Amino acid sequence: MFDKRFRKTVRMAKMLRKGERVAVGLSGGKDSTVLLHSLASLKKDLPFELVAITIDEGIEGYRARTMVPAKRECERLEIEQKIFSFKELCGKTLDELVAGSEKSRSQKQESALPCSQCGVLRRYALNKAAMETKADKLAIGHNLDDMAQTMMMNIMRAEPSRIARMNEPVLKSGRFVQRIRPLMLTPEKEIAIYAMLKGIALEHVECPYAGSAFRGHVRKMLNESEERYPGTKFKIMNSFLEMEGTLRERYSKGASLSLCPECGEPSSKGMCRFCQLSQ
Ligand code: SF4
Repeated sequence: MFDKRFRKTVRMAKMLRKGERVAVGLSGGKDSTVLLHSLASLKKDLPFELVAITIDEGIEGYRARTMVPAKRECERLEIEQKIFSFKELCGKTLDELVAGSEKSRSQKQESALPCSQCGVLRRYALNKAAMETKADKLAIGHNLDDMAQTMMMNIMRAEPSRIARMNEPVLKSGRFVQRIRPLMLTPEKEIAIYAMLKGIALEHVECPYAGSAFRGHVRKMLNESEERYPGTKFKIMNSFLEMEGTLRERYSKGASLSLCPECGEPSSKGMCRFCQLSQ
């Protein structure tokens, strides 16, 4: 059932082609590790190259621990792993950035929250790493729960333009590696069961900043809804897939992509968010 759904998602959304080079964003958590295993298994039937990319955000007591299973599973599956860090890319760890924001800004400001900063830097770092490894596709371990949560968060914040770019940027650029999410229709619970059945030993450690996320509130709300009205998360995901094309068309009209004057990477206007945060 698990493999069948995984393969169907890849096939239906035309995510992969024979001979492509696929970089997997591998954090060492259950989703990305299961994604690595599933892609490694698919690779036996549809030949493509696989490389793992691990981003070390620099979160004391957290990332170093999840990097252990990430390295071990790459060795077990004989997949090359490349490690990139926030420190190398922007000169600061996430811990240092968070400490700086606490001093200079109000934590009520959403862009100053650790997960918002981390999200911006990780998206940038993964894309840069995928470009450097000459990947055609960047596979991300987002599951059904993640996607339904993101969709609801965007609705609750009244940000339809973010729904339009949930899967990939609205404007195409040769500097963006196309992202694929082969687990987007797989519930988180099934991924946990699959990891257990495959004997994948994981580090059960939570990011110290996780509690600050608005996502935590939405996750709880959706889990309660799913309990009372089974199928809620699939229905939210299907609504997203149904409206994605229309929204992308709407938000791409008249939009233009410029280059960040600091780093030269694509930016919707002026200095990109990565460079703003790195300063
Ligand atoms: Fe980054 Fe937030 Fe995830 Fe921690 S919980 S790794 S800060 S996005």
